[in-house]
Amino acid sequence: MDYRKAPDGRVNIRLDAGDELIASLLEICGKERIGNAMFWGIGACMKADIGHYDPEKKEYHNKVLEGKMEIISLTGNVTMADDAPLIHAHIALGLQDFSMQGGHVNMVEVDPTCEVVLMPIEGKVQRELDEKTGLKAQRF
Ligand code: ZN
Repeated sequence: MDYRKAPDGRVNIRLDAGDELIASLLEICGKERIGNAMFWGIGACMKADIGHYDPEKKEYHNKVLEGKMEIISLTGNVTMADDAPLIHAHIALGLQDFSMQGGHVNMVEVDPTCEVVLMPIEGKVQRELDEKTGLKAQRF
């Protein structure tokens, strides 16, 4: 992984083979003291653990995908929960047969690379558990 902050505050990130997406973004947010941001990315991966939320059961159904996959679209945000940055990301993955799968990102193992642009945003957005949805909802 390597990254660089541009003069406008944007952070250009290159993830390499074996880098885990969420852990890498948390590491950068910790080092750069970023607690509120949006990000986008494209690239490829070998393994992804994705989820689909069931609002009635208030739980995620998870699925692990393995094999060469294109990261067609990665999008997400950084907010604060329990005094630590929290990454919320969704992904669309292109499989070798050109079909697509996607969902909420639990884990993505990059291979060979993923390019992410992270835009810090001024201000603070906190997340707290919302009993109604069972999710950590944004509080302003
Ligand atoms: Zn989600």
